[in-house]
Amino acid sequence: MACSRDPSEIKLIAVSKTKPAEAVREAYEAGQRAFGENYAQELTHKASALADLADIEWHYIGHLQSNKAKHVAHAAHVVHTLDTPTVARELGKRAGSEGYGNAQRQLPVLVEVNVGAEPQKHGVSPGELEFLLDAVDRQPALKLRGLMTMPPPDLESARHAFMALVSLQTRHGGRNRLPDLSMGMSHDLEIAIACGATMVRVGSAIFGSR
Ligand SMILES: *Cc1c(COP(=O)(O)O)cnc(C)c1O
Repeated sequence: MACSRDPSEIKLIAVSKTKPAEAVREAYEAGQRAFGENYAQELTHKASALADLADIEWHYIGHLQSNKAKHVAHAAHVVHTLDTPTVARELGKRAGSEGYGNAQRQLPVLVEVNVGAEPQKHGVSPGELEFLLDAVDRQPALKLRGLMTMPPPDLESARHAFMALVSLQTRHGGRNRLPDLSMGMSHDLEIAIACGATMVRVGSAIFGSR
């Protein structure tokens, strides 16, 4: 590898949005376990179609709204995109109804950060991050795991965004509080890994274009 990272500390999430359940099953049979979905309904549908795959791991990576929290809490094993205290409370409540809520079993969540505070983008702005992290910490059914970001498309801006996410991790409790950084997609994953990603979300490079 071009950078000195231990491959075992980087999880590959195969983003299967818009692809049929059978494509997910094929990837599973080839050894892949973690899959990413953007739409609550599509996630629910595929998770039930593939319910026989006991150790499959569903990652919800789409924008999360309160009215989808129930379905996401039911089907997802990890949520990457919490971005408001209101949604944190709602997801916490719904995860509680799914039986999460003690130290042995909490729903792992990451907070999506809009590192450049770009107006059209989802994600909490850096200035409001601590408040949101505290809101997640107060939900007994949720386990704060880290930070996620969607960078701008060009690679140099993406590198800046990834570095900014790493500094936010450092500033808000480091790897003890925020062990995971979900960053990197098909076109920028090498940069994300060099910057410290622990989860990369790769769609088209695995399943082909959408
Ligand atoms: C679609 C998507 C990806 C994967 O993108 P590719 O360019 O196909 O690798 C990763 N993260 C999120 C949030 C996505 O919506």
